[in-house]
Amino acid sequence: MSEATRISYDDVVAWITSFAATVRSQKEYLTELDSAIGDADHGINMDRGFQAVLAKLDGLAVVDVGSLFKTVGMTLVSTVGGASGPLYGTFFLQLGGASAGKDSLEAGEFVAALEAGIAGIQRLGKAEPGDKTMLDTLLPARDALREAVAGGGSLGEALTRMVAAAEQGMLSTIPLVARKGRASYLGERSAGHQDPGATSSYLLLKDAADTWAATRAGSAS
Ligand code: ADP
Ligand code: MG
Repeated sequence: MSEATRISYDDVVAWITSFAATVRSQKEYLTELDSAIGDADHGINMDRGFQAVLAKLDGLAVVDVGSLFKTVGMTLVSTVGGASGPLYGTFFLQLGGASAGKDSLEAGEFVAALEAGIAGIQRLGKAEPGDKTMLDTLLPARDALREAVAGGGSLGEALTRMVAAAEQGMLSTIPLVARKGRASYLGERSAGHQDPGATSSYLLLKDAADTWAATRAGSAS
């Protein structure tokens, strides 16, 4: 198995670190999206959580990808209030469970981890596709990734397809009427606004693709 098709421990650290920076730079944007259909705290929640994650990663003894994801998940659960803390926390805890004891992940293992993470969000939040939540980004992204990996494409190609589907999914939330979370209290008035959680989920997956593409471009030269 060549380096290009494996996601290493360092790749995962780079992903999480990059996402923490993205959340920081998009904090106002995410909060603005949440001010339209929620309580204007999504950017603040995510930033609080990922700054705490950065602090935890600093000085964390390298063990394996599974325990790294678990640390991220536990940190989010314990530091982020609101719906997104437990949901993203569960996502990462499940990623950790699926990759327990692994030093790196091959593409198929990353698909399986993502499947477990998303299933955790579904079990906890009980949202369905079309409810105007983060799942509207994550479910089509997962399907696109799974299909691309099963089709034998490179990891880079599969991640590109995943991000394209995630973006479509994020945009698909604009006309939807929210049926879960705070935005559902608005009923019909939630239509016409992009869901904040669907947006942060898109940024999370985009950062995975961008970070891992950059590492590979670097190692090829
Ligand atoms: P809160 O709604 O408690 O203020 P945040 O603002 O941090 O928490 O997060 C809001 C986001 O959480 C929403 O945009 C939506 O994507 C997501 N969300 C809310 N409820 C659910 C749920 N039951 N399942 C999946 N995602 C949800
Ligand atoms: Mg909110």
